[in-house]
Amino acid sequence: MTRNLLSSVRLRFAPSPTGHLHLGGLRTALFNHLLARKLDGKWILRIEDTDQSRLVPGAIQSIIKTLQWAKLDYDEGPDLSGQFGPYIQSQRQAIYEAHRDRLLETKQAYRCFCSAERLDQMRQEFRRQGSHLTYDRKCLQMSDAEQARRLSEGASHVVRLRNSDAPVSLNDLVYGQLTFLNNTQDDAILIKADGTPTYHFANVVDDHHMRISHVLRGEEWLSSTPKHILLYQALGFPVPQFAHLPLLVNADGSKLSKRSGDVRVEEYITKGYEPEALLNFVALMGMNHSRHQALEKNETTTSDLMTMEQMTSMSFRWIWSVNIAQPCRSQSLCTLINSTSAGACSRRSRNGFVHGSCAPAHSWSRIARPARCRTNTSIGCCSQ
Ligand SMILES: [Zn+2]
Repeated sequence: MTRNLLSSVRLRFAPSPTGHLHLGGLRTALFNHLLARKLDGKWILRIEDTDQSRLVPGAIQSIIKTLQWAKLDYDEGPDLSGQFGPYIQSQRQAIYEAHRDRLLETKQAYRCFCSAERLDQMRQEFRRQGSHLTYDRKCLQMSDAEQARRLSEGASHVVRLRNSDAPVSLNDLVYGQLTFLNNTQDDAILIKADGTPTYHFANVVDDHHMRISHVLRGEEWLSSTPKHILLYQALGFPVPQFAHLPLLVNADGSKLSKRSGDVRVEEYITKGYEPEALLNFVALMGMNHSRHQALEKNETTTSDLMTMEQMTSMSFRWIWSVNIAQPCRSQSLCTLINSTSAGACSRRSRNGFVHGSCAPAHSWSRIARPARCRTNTSIGCCSQ
């Protein structure tokens, strides 16, 4: 079951407060904002702090401040009212426990009492066999009496989803129709030994309770999506529309890191960049100017990377030279926003490939220019 695309459109941006907002996060927030506004829907800010060991003090306030600076105004969030709160996951424990109990009662989840040592040995053995599995489902066979005995002794345990071997299909708004063979999936842990939910469990439960209709998130979550769909099914929830956004990467294709340039939005704020400039930049990281340029010259190219050098060499007069590139799935990305935003993708090439600013019709069509430029650093800064 899939939610109707246009009925009560609600999206969410759900960062973890494990650090400050980086360019990739800003871009995901921007796409959520665009789609929500175009479809006359709402988008919310949800803080996913299930991994308490990685919390960074002040990170929540920093994320909120950065979104405010970028003028990406969400409708509900930790600092706003809303009927689906609280909007910080650590304050929603009772909701997760209720759904955990429901899954245990219906035998769609089970308790696993295996020790860390046993799981580690099993993981190594599976690896030796060339398998991606990490768990042998031993505890699925445990009798209710044995479980009750262990619980009465206070034995440490996690709660796992009882997986199905059936393939999982997904019609992703960017990737299209995908089918995942499910016999390579483990019985995912839903509740950790300390009783708190894993990212996957909290994410699905919250998306349902917050009535999320479209999940726009980075493509690093694509491989987890079958797990999430199985959870939606087990809980009897409708499955939202998914759109997995290609990631910003370094020019060599590696994960975007601070080593290769400035990635924290706050660094651009400190250097005096205007929010419109930075939004324009990350919005453009959804297209492939290099391919379009080559096509115009009747050249062929196999490159799917757009570097800042290529961008600055083009007629857009971009002043950026940060060493960031973009794997191109731009056509589908731009189509997604074009089909949903007011003035997006205003120009098209003769072959239909989109270029120009993939952004609303208003101020983002301006040339990106920092408000002031104090230093000439690795990001190149301005050539005013
Ligand atoms: Zn077990």
